[in-house]
Amino acid sequence: MSVVVVGTVAFDSIETPSGFAERVLGGSASYFAVAASFFSPVKIVGVIGEDFPEEHLAIFSRHGVDLEGLRRENGETFHWRGRYHEDLNVRDTVELHLNVLAGFRPRLPESYRDAEYVFLGNIDPVMQMEVLNQLRRIRLVACDTMDHWIQGSGDELRRVMGKIGMLIINDSEARLLSGEHNIVRAARAILKMGPKVVLIKRGEYGVLQFSDSSMFATPAYPLEEVFDPTGAGDSFAGGFLGHLARSRDHSQSGLRRAIVYGSVVASFTVEDFGLKRLTNLSLAEIEERYRRFTDLTNFHT
Ligand code: AMP
Repeated sequence: MSVVVVGTVAFDSIETPSGFAERVLGGSASYFAVAASFFSPVKIVGVIGEDFPEEHLAIFSRHGVDLEGLRRENGETFHWRGRYHEDLNVRDTVELHLNVLAGFRPRLPESYRDAEYVFLGNIDPVMQMEVLNQLRRIRLVACDTMDHWIQGSGDELRRVMGKIGMLIINDSEARLLSGEHNIVRAARAILKMGPKVVLIKRGEYGVLQFSDSSMFATPAYPLEEVFDPTGAGDSFAGGFLGHLARSRDHSQSGLRRAIVYGSVVASFTVEDFGLKRLTNLSLAEIEERYRRFTDLTNFHT
């Protein structure tokens, strides 16, 4: 079952305590697409500039990602520069150039419109809504957002929230969106805004899942070294939704398995800069770490 993703396809310049990378392939849609492609076919909606190289497009093609909805416009590609603190859960945006993303109007090719699984990556909620309005057979919509949109486009975001099944969001953003500091209260408040399920990402501390009737917690897979946390959240979302689109099992245990697959994929992403590790990853490695993860969290023995 195909997954449609809308989000940024970017050049990222990243500085972490382990080193730096200049203008590497990044963006929420890029991480999501490669992560989800291990489980399901993916279709990208997004925009790139004239400067976007063929070798980056080849990475998507190698992962079978459909690029018909990725438009090339005159101008430069979206560029983000970020710097991480010693505490890798904290990062600063040093530069943000929207470039061709400014004024982008997503238009879905006919071949995308019957997709049942959708990820609205972190972009302007107006664009997220435009994508939703073009889909005919939605089974599940998951959505991400960030402080910038919560503060600047609250009304539009509220409208999107009324139409989605799941929100996948950072803990600090969940607090900002709900006005509640306690994370359980924050999740309860967000559930009242529309989504049936809220997934709260807590960086190296893992993920919490809330619905009206259930709660589930997983750690992040413990690693000795994290090189670059960029894209962990989008890789989590990709592994999660990609797996769910494959299994089509929306039961509580199906959701839990998908959450662990998402966490496993994200744990690979942070092992190297940008998309490097994800693009050298095999399904066998994912399955092996999934087994280790099961072992790690098993207390029934
Ligand atoms: P994550 O680390 O999963 O939260 O996402 C990192 C990705 O988000 C990077 O590859 C950036 O290109 C992208 N990004 C950073 N700032 C923004 C923004 N304001 N809007 C959309 N995407 C962004």
